[in-house]
Parts: sequence; C-alpha cells; structure tokens
Amino acid sequence: MQLEPKKYILIIVILWVVSVSASLCWNLFQLDRSAEINNVKRAKAFFQQVLITRGWSASHGGLYLRVSEQLPPNPFLHVPDRDIETTDGVQLTLINPALMTRMISELAEKQGLTNFHLTSLQLINPGNAPLPWEKIALQDFEKGKSQEYFFTRQENDSEVFHYIASLYVSQECLQCHKQQGYKIGDVRGGLTVSFPINKKSISTLVLSHCFMLLFGALLIVGFGNKIVRLTETLKKQSNIDGLTRIANRGYFDQILHREWLCSRRKKTTLSLILCDIDHFKLYNDTYGHQAGDSCLKQVAQALNTSTNRPADLVARYGGEEFVVILPETSAKGAGDVAERMRTAVENLQVAHSTSETAECVTISLGVATTTSSVATEKELIKQADKALYASKRNGRNRITHADD
Ligand code: GH3
Ligand code: MG
Ligand code: MG
Repeated sequence: MQLEPKKYILIIVILWVVSVSASLCWNLFQLDRSAEINNVKRAKAFFQQVLITRGWSASHGGLYLRVSEQLPPNPFLHVPDRDIETTDGVQLTLINPALMTRMISELAEKQGLTNFHLTSLQLINPGNAPLPWEKIALQDFEKGKSQEYFFTRQENDSEVFHYIASLYVSQECLQCHKQQGYKIGDVRGGLTVSFPINKKSISTLVLSHCFMLLFGALLIVGFGNKIVRLTETLKKQSNIDGLTRIANRGYFDQILHREWLCSRRKKTTLSLILCDIDHFKLYNDTYGHQAGDSCLKQVAQALNTSTNRPADLVARYGGEEFVVILPETSAKGAGDVAERMRTAVENLQVAHSTSETAECVTISLGVATTTSSVATEKELIKQADKALYASKRNGRNRITHADD
C-alpha cells in the first residue's frame, strides 16, 4: 500500500510529538525523583546540624543567657539553678536544647530559610504540640514502624517539603526529661524540617520541550511540503518527453495498463491511435536534424490539441511516432479524433518538398478498438500498428481502422 506524501508528513509529525512527549515525561519523572532525593538529603543535613547543636548544648548542660524582655526564664523548665545572678547582679537563665532549637528555628524562619518544629507526644510545652500528620508519624516512630517520614504538599502558592525524623533519649536529655519516665534510647519525639521547593526547573523543562515540539513540527511540515512539491515536479518531469513536452513512452505504458484494466472492469471500449510522420527521414535529409526536431514539436502540439476529453492521452511512442489513448471511445469516435489529428497536421502546412505524398508534412494513422478478439494490451497495440502499416501501404496521409 502506498500512502499519500502528505500522510507521511502527518505520520512523522505524530512520531515527533510522541517522541518529545515521551522525553518530557521521562525528564519530569527523573526530575521528580532526583528532586525528592535532593530534598531528603537537604532536610537530613539540616536535621543533623540541629542535632549536633542540640547535642553540644546538652553535653554542656545547656547555656546561660542574659534575661531580657525577649528572653524571659523558660516556665516549662523545672531544674535547679534555672535562674542565676552574676557577681555583678546580671540575671542569667538556663536555655535548654529544646528552647535553643526553637530560637534557632525562629531565626531561620525569619530569614525565609528553613522551618524547624520540635514536637512530641508527651509534651512539656503545649506550644510544641504535633500537627495531625506529625502525630501519625510520631506514633509510627514509637511503634518502631519507621524512623523518618517525608512528603511535599501545596501550601498557599508554593510547594513545601516536610521531613520528620525521630529523636532518641540520650544521657544528656534525662537532665530535663527524667521526671517523664524516659530511658536512654526511647523515642523522645521528633524534629520536623520544612522548606519551600523551587519549581522553576519543571516549568523550564516543560517550556523547552514545548518550544522543541513546535519548532520541530514546523521544520517537518515546512521541509516535508518542499520535498513533496519537489517529488511531484520530478515525477511530472519523468513522465514528459524532453523534446516534444508531451507524455513519454514510460507514462504511456502506465496509463494504457490502467485504462486497460478499467475498461475490462467497466466493460467499456478503449481505443488506440498510432500515428507516424510520413517520409520523415527524407524531411531530415532535406531540412536538417534541427528542423526535424522543430517539426516533431509542432506535430506533437497539433496532436495534443486535437483531443477533447481530460482522460485522453497523447504520447510520443518513439522517433517520429505518436500514440493516443482514448478511454470509453468507440471505433467511430476514435476515427473522428484520428481525422481531426490528420487534418491538424496537414493544416500546419510545414513544407516538405521531397515528400512523395504531399507538399507539406503529413501523418498516417492506425486505429484499434477493444473487441472480443483483442485479449491483451499488446494485442491492441499490435492491431493499431497493423492498421498504421496499412495506411502507409495504401498511400499515406490517411487513417485505417483495424476492423477494416
Ligand atoms: P515512413 O513514411 O514510411 O514512415 O518513412 P519515414 O522516413 O518517416 O520512416 P523511417 O522509419 O524510415 O524514418 C524515421 C525517421 O525519423 C528516421 C529518424 O532519423 C527520424 N527521427 C526519429 N526520431 C527523431 C528525432 O528525435 N529528431 C529528428 N530530427 N528525427 C528523428
Ligand atoms: Mg516510423
Ligand atoms: Mg515515418
């Protein structure tokens, strides 16, 4: 099966769209995966940083800072020596690791970086109450089902990544949390790390693929149409005789085969006319080869303009011979066309002083029509050729029908 050239272009465009879409899906998938891996890595790094800072503070039993309006003594911290006074009378208060984490978190949040949330199922400070999803994660940590939990969700107009991992009780923690009955190694609570995600890379990826898709499709359609036009021109040229600019022998063979099958199928008559210029060798000898070529062109045009129907085809059969296909044409109709052709050539009045037939160039014609006795295309040509030979034998410049 042969497809129309335009359909090939459509298929290539569809393949292009499918390829670019597949590339986009693959890249988005990879980006999503690598983005998640990177986010987890980033969150873990923050988490570890806070743990180290907390650990350092806890290992020294906390920090003493100057009491101020912004930093009052921690009401949830019940340890001896929570508040002390220097020899100069400066009031200092103990900052435990939990409060220190909250203070660092508030600073990071203010700078628009990362948000930390220290939380637990057994609260000392109600301000550290877990969010619903944190509560589920903490319950899982306590049951030993998992040690970390993370996800991304849309919050206001940006996507936010949340990561929570469990915090375990160490020796230093017991200083503040002993009264809650914790042992070393118990899950004390969790620390959430949250930060907004920059989605710019996804939109850049989508945009670049859209551009690639459009640009590629335009190129395919543009070049495809050019190639189609070029192919059509070449095809037309390959069917045309270089000298006379009418159909050539190859095209004639194709069309005759097509019309033969068509006449068989539709049970219609198909006629064929073979024409040959009379005494053309003598014409060349008298007027030269160039004049012979010019004569051939004129005769070809005269024959070509003698047919009326679009389906009729006049072709150069070879040398100074021409052939005419007349689909759905009876013997009588073909005879009429043949006579028009003979007269048209005669009316050209191309002088031929050495012709034995007339003073100008003339043609002889043989007409054949499909009948029950004509079984093949070759047979039809043979019959037309025989008729042409009869015209030559009977004095030239005449028409003979194969039935005669
Ligand atoms: P007849 O009336 O019996 O057909 O005689 P004829 O001379 O026309 O026939 P013949 O077959 O002897 O000669 C045909 C001539 O046509 C010979 C050849 O030189 C000439 N011819 C064939 N093709 C071309 C062409 O492309 N250009 C020119 N100038 N002459 C051609
Ligand atoms: Mg000849
Ligand atoms: Mg001839």
